[in-house]
Amino acid sequence: LGGFVGFANLPNQYHRRSVRKGFHFTAMVVGESGLGKSTLVNTLFNTSLYAKKDVPLPEHDRPQTVAIESITADIEENGVRLRLTVVDTPGYGDFINNDQGWKPILDNIEARFDAFLEQENRVNRQKTIDNRIHACLYFVEPTGHSLKPVDIEFMRRLHQRVNLIPVIAKADTLTDDEVAQFKARILSDLAHHRIDIYQAPQYDLEDEETIAENEEIVRKIPFAVVGSDTVVATSDGRQARGRAYPWGTVEVDNEDHCDFVKLRQMLVRTHMEELKEHTADVLYEKYRQEKLLAMGV
Ligand code: GDP
Ligand code: MG
Repeated sequence: LGGFVGFANLPNQYHRRSVRKGFHFTAMVVGESGLGKSTLVNTLFNTSLYAKKDVPLPEHDRPQTVAIESITADIEENGVRLRLTVVDTPGYGDFINNDQGWKPILDNIEARFDAFLEQENRVNRQKTIDNRIHACLYFVEPTGHSLKPVDIEFMRRLHQRVNLIPVIAKADTLTDDEVAQFKARILSDLAHHRIDIYQAPQYDLEDEETIAENEEIVRKIPFAVVGSDTVVATSDGRQARGRAYPWGTVEVDNEDHCDFVKLRQMLVRTHMEELKEHTADVLYEKYRQEKLLAMGV
């Protein structure tokens, strides 16, 4: 965890704007049942650096997710507060017919757009609450082969409405080579099916260090993630969050082991403001215009 820098170190212009407006970020996790979504949500909130409250239950106490539910916690770093909300969704693999599995998810995303639109149309717009989903983590089963038809269908239905960020679930079950090959395959499948995942913009104005750092994060997509809320002993005698195996320990916060740290940095630091702006200016705006057209306005 040594080199961890949090959202308090956002590029200055974003930082100032966010301090003024108050940090509030909402992410959603989507994917088949049993892929570790709820565990990853917990892992996101449980980063030990942060003061936290209302953290989710540890893995063994946590029931299977049966409804769409949100978890909110205020996290703080260097005196800067962020209200992070993660919307956890039930896995769709439990149903015999998955054809419409995307529907409740899309409805939820659009209902949040509707709620925002309704507020915008009010005479008094002083206190708008933005509950729109700023990023959707789509969990891909670590098969090592290709995306499944159900993945394509889900992402195809969602990509015009939300910033999609695919992640490879339970990456500790694949070797490094398998992860690398699977990533390439996922990206080519997505391109083939014309699914637009979140594309981070290139900034000209920022310093070279920031550009390099952002590029390094973006290059990791689809992030290979490992979730755990258990502390285990590492081979060199440290204690770390991870998963223990007979052959060794996979550490959640070790960048040589998985991309969890990069994913977290993207969400709460490097791309937080941009994910929000893209949601507001592109995704929501498109939805709003389609809605007005449909209403004949
Ligand atoms: P969800 O249905 O997607 O919310 O999945 P859960 O978070 O409930 O996890 C399902 C099972 O997978 C539990 O037994 C977890 O302990 C396990 N699990 C969660 N994350 C990981 C991971 O990164 N790697 C491995 N190997 N197992 C995981
Ligand atoms: Mg769950």
